[in-house]
Amino acid sequence: MKKKCLECDEPLNGRVDKKFCSDYCRNSYNNKVNKESKNLIRNINNRLRKNHKILSDLNESGKTKVTRTKLLDGNFDFNYFTSIYTTKTGNTYFYLYDQGYLPLENDYYLLIKKE
Ligand SMILES: [Zn+2]
Repeated sequence: MKKKCLECDEPLNGRVDKKFCSDYCRNSYNNKVNKESKNLIRNINNRLRKNHKILSDLNESGKTKVTRTKLLDGNFDFNYFTSIYTTKTGNTYFYLYDQGYLPLENDYYLLIKKE
């Protein structure tokens, strides 16, 4: 099997470790990869920022209790957080920067702001 250019699928001649037929193809391929990873990072950052805003808006006092429904109503996404903190007693807090939440019983969440 002859190797093909990763960008344009042209068969490659020459060195076995060659991946592209030309500088042009290498550049345009790498630009695309960089663009995709930038988009990925931007989308995740947006998601984190949105989650942080939802918690900030619900937690004006710095410590409050809300229902899961209330978080989901604001489109909170539980898959995205910036850090996790587990206390000695085994409670796990999830943080979006300075805003944290602790899952409680019966679909309640304790929201707390890090000092
Ligand atoms: Zn090519």
